[in-house]
Amino acid sequence: MKRVLLAALPLSLALIACSEEAASPAPAPATPAPTEVQAAPEPVASPETSPAITAEDLAAQIRTVSSDAFEGRGPGSKGETVTLAYLQQEFERMGLTPGNGDSWTQDVPMVEVRGEIAEPLTFQVGDTAMELKALDEFVLGSALLDPEVSISGSEVVFAGYGVVAPEADWNDYSGIDPKGKTVIVLVNDPGFGNGDESLFKGKAMTYYGRWTYKFEECARQGAAACIIVHETAGASYGWEVVRNGWSGPQFDLPRGEGSDPVVPMAGWISRDSAVRLFEAAGMDFNAIRETADTRQFEAVALNATASGKVNNEVRKADSKNVLGKVVGSTHPDEYIIYTAHWDHLGRTFGNPDDNIYNGAIDNGTGMGALLELAEAFASDPEPPKRSILFLAVTLEESGLLGSRWYAENPVYPLVKTVANINMDAFPVVGPTKDVVVVGFGSSELENVLADAATEQDRQIVQEPTPENGFYFRSDHFNFAKVGVPALYAKGGIDHREKGKEYGSELAVDYVTNRYHKPADEFSEDWDLSGMAQDVQLLYAVGKRVADSDGWPQWLEGSEFKARRDAMMAE
Ligand SMILES: [Zn+2]
Repeated sequence: MKRVLLAALPLSLALIACSEEAASPAPAPATPAPTEVQAAPEPVASPETSPAITAEDLAAQIRTVSSDAFEGRGPGSKGETVTLAYLQQEFERMGLTPGNGDSWTQDVPMVEVRGEIAEPLTFQVGDTAMELKALDEFVLGSALLDPEVSISGSEVVFAGYGVVAPEADWNDYSGIDPKGKTVIVLVNDPGFGNGDESLFKGKAMTYYGRWTYKFEECARQGAAACIIVHETAGASYGWEVVRNGWSGPQFDLPRGEGSDPVVPMAGWISRDSAVRLFEAAGMDFNAIRETADTRQFEAVALNATASGKVNNEVRKADSKNVLGKVVGSTHPDEYIIYTAHWDHLGRTFGNPDDNIYNGAIDNGTGMGALLELAEAFASDPEPPKRSILFLAVTLEESGLLGSRWYAENPVYPLVKTVANINMDAFPVVGPTKDVVVVGFGSSELENVLADAATEQDRQIVQEPTPENGFYFRSDHFNFAKVGVPALYAKGGIDHREKGKEYGSELAVDYVTNRYHKPADEFSEDWDLSGMAQDVQLLYAVGKRVADSDGWPQWLEGSEFKARRDAMMAE
């Protein structure tokens, strides 16, 4: 288990994190390998819940799904069997329609990759070979899933932030041909580096700033390898997070026909290594690095070559998304999709006192919300005009894989998918005046949210640390990435009577003592009245969008807008 967000703790007060930063293709859950023979588990009884969205009903659902009977909801474990059966049973009880033809589930294939450095990353500058030290100075992997992947004598180029952003009129690759080469890039985006609020989104991280984007763009450019220079400020975490994230097995979706290209080799190097490499090549890293924040930047060849090799051991497995729907009355082919991940970290064998990651907050709260929303919509005497899909996704903790699989293999066309509303790790601090929008300023869904929040005498606010890129760290992001406007919002910290300090204290307590630990358990002491308000709010947003003819858009300047516009124009 990795505890990685602690360094950023004081800054992330108002945001209860779910997905930890892994800085690698996908982190490993603490779930044991799903090899044991499983006896059919006992079904779990449904609680008595009402059509209304209430604190009592939320408590009943969260208490149930985070109970030991669910064994921490580890994908591939007995916990998965129990969870899938329970969700289906609840959807049936509430009167939903199966979401995938006759089926309540969608198969999600996955691969587990154990990579090993066969030959360290080595830069050759003239007669000098500079061999980096694995895990201390570099990490390297390959998402190709081939048993052996290597680069040898690959020319090195520096491409600034490695960003191609047409809407910002920015292309770090103009003027060089990166095909077959080793591309070195910076983490984060020029707006962050420059501090100019009009450049990209200023200090708030755009998707161009994410390490995943860097690798994807390198792949589109045909590079042989993509190496990110780690800088603590830009990454928002230290080198140890990179190191931990790339140790142990990685999870990914299998590659098939039509899969997006992947860069054969990808990794990170420490900042010190980059400085040394540039120096050896007769260049000043700091000077060149600074120009990367400006429009004057031009990619440069380094007069160096790179070599390295990784061996991969690949194991296949699978899991399932669960989906049910309420069919719309006048536009049944148009969908609003609520998502919440059902998976958590399963069981652990390292803690003698408590060996189950119950995941009550993460993401028992999201599951409770999803079930309450399903029951509310299914019991409405007036059905929504558009259809509502309730999608409980798997493998979020392993790198948002279940939602990615759905987004890349949608049951309903994306062009008919009006919006995604995601729920992950609600705070349980009680009623708050604020509603935090993660990725504030992204889409018109926020206008609908703001209106509905006003009716609760609440205000929507920006997340406290947009530079950390939390918008890219839960399941809605996979919808955003394929163009579907996606909203991720939850209660803040400004407690209606007890103020901000009280709310922060509880949030800090969660992140410090329970987040991704067996202690993330349900408590009868929680005040779920605030969460009930949050869920009622998200109900109002879904209901309004479902009953309107409108198509909420990405806001001008959004990195996801072009994809949506192209889709809608077809
Ligand atoms: Zn979560």
